[in-house]
Amino acid sequence: MVTLALNSRVQSLVTEYGVFWQFWPQFEQIHGERRLVGFEVELIGFHTSDLNHLDPACPACRHVRSVLLAIALAMPRETSFRRNYLTYNIDSHSNSILCLPALGNRSAVWVSIYVFLNRANGQSFETDLLNEVKTFLNKCGIHQR
Ligand SMILES: [Zn+2]
Repeated sequence: MVTLALNSRVQSLVTEYGVFWQFWPQFEQIHGERRLVGFEVELIGFHTSDLNHLDPACPACRHVRSVLLAIALAMPRETSFRRNYLTYNIDSHSNSILCLPALGNRSAVWVSIYVFLNRANGQSFETDLLNEVKTFLNKCGIHQR
């Protein structure tokens, strides 16, 4: 099987849909201390610059979402998530459209990836895992915003 990161079809769709990612650390109060317990990676893409485009049933939006979802599903195969980390949840926000002020309120679709840590892995996650995420997404041609 050809790995997704090397799949040129995915890379060209990533370019076509302007896909980028955002990173949100997730904190929890543990014994009065704010601790990093995981993170969310958002994959965001869009197929039109029409600002009035707000149709949750749009087939093109659905296709953008399916590409984002395929990337999200491939990530644990290409990183050490499965080996090292407790939970990996994907939410494809399947009936929602995101309006992005940073993109002039352009309509986009997005997929969230939630990774929550196995407590035993402690501190090194931030650099190690984030580097893996960046490497994987870079290979797909997706840049952080
Ligand atoms: Zn659409």
